[in-house]
Amino acid sequence: MITQTSISYYGLNYVEHAEADFKEMKAHGVTQVILAVTEFDFDFWRPNIPAIVDKAHELGLRVLIDPWGNGKYFGGEQVSKFLQDNVENRQVSALTGEKLPYACFNTNSYRDYFKNFCVTLARECKPDGFFWDEPHYAFPKGIASITGGVADDWTCYCPVCRKRFEEYYGYPMPKYMTNDVKLFRWREALVVLSDTSKALKEIDPNLEITCCVHATQNGYYVSEYRGYDNWDMVGACPYFDVFSTTIVNWALPEDFYLDITRRTVAIAKKYGKKSERWLMGYYKQPKDFSQVAHWVDLAAKEGVDRLAAWTYRGGYGTVVGAPDALKLWDTIGENYRRVIAKV
Ligand SMILES: [Zn+2]
Repeated sequence: MITQTSISYYGLNYVEHAEADFKEMKAHGVTQVILAVTEFDFDFWRPNIPAIVDKAHELGLRVLIDPWGNGKYFGGEQVSKFLQDNVENRQVSALTGEKLPYACFNTNSYRDYFKNFCVTLARECKPDGFFWDEPHYAFPKGIASITGGVADDWTCYCPVCRKRFEEYYGYPMPKYMTNDVKLFRWREALVVLSDTSKALKEIDPNLEITCCVHATQNGYYVSEYRGYDNWDMVGACPYFDVFSTTIVNWALPEDFYLDITRRTVAIAKKYGKKSERWLMGYYKQPKDFSQVAHWVDLAAKEGVDRLAAWTYRGGYGTVVGAPDALKLWDTIGENYRRVIAKV
């Protein structure tokens, strides 16, 4: 049964404007706001963030803080202050040695920065939890050949990662992605999120952590190797409460959506977590809007606990707005109201 219906929300500045938006969300059957807090918001709009969280609570909405695009390590379109302020501690290409515009989340510099960002917001804002939004290594992705090996380059080959690899395995880090490199990347990728999640629960044990990973096939032939594609390792993390997988484009086959949904529920159940599936509420819309109700019903039938959509008003007014953004938002709202009424 679907027990939470979420919408993401960014551009937060003024409490009284957020209040009007929160009321609109309530009218759209939303129970939970995924509050996208950027590094700029944290740096500049800090005084208003706790007041915005309080206002959402006052109106009966749960609030999860999303460190949206932080370090460009998480998904998202906004810019990163960490990258602006640090020329080092970036992910490095294994094959070319180039520094890339992605923070290396295996460096202590970024790990400290990220943890401070989250624990400060937890203390000041009293949210209901945090949302880890598409964390990833820069490369590779989209390995789509059944013969494998399309994306040869990978990250991270920075000095910190190389040193840690050599200390652990006793030989220099290879430039080819071997099994040791794969395991190293999976293990290190979980450290930053585990440590911060643990620190958050030490502040308040009721803070709920959702880890949302890319919806990938992860089959025998095809895997993305973005660091969180080993769903068993992610699901087994004791500090995560909700296992969530990202948006599938409406134009993709229903079988693909069903496969992702079933595997999401299976991993969540296996590790005693709640499951969450995302709907595409921006950028693209279904050819036939009745597909929204159909996919919502499929998720409910497969045992998904929570639904979420990116983003408020279908991305209206942004470069990633759906063609009929407000109609998409209203359609998602109708379906949220329909499923949440059964709780
Ligand atoms: Zn690195």
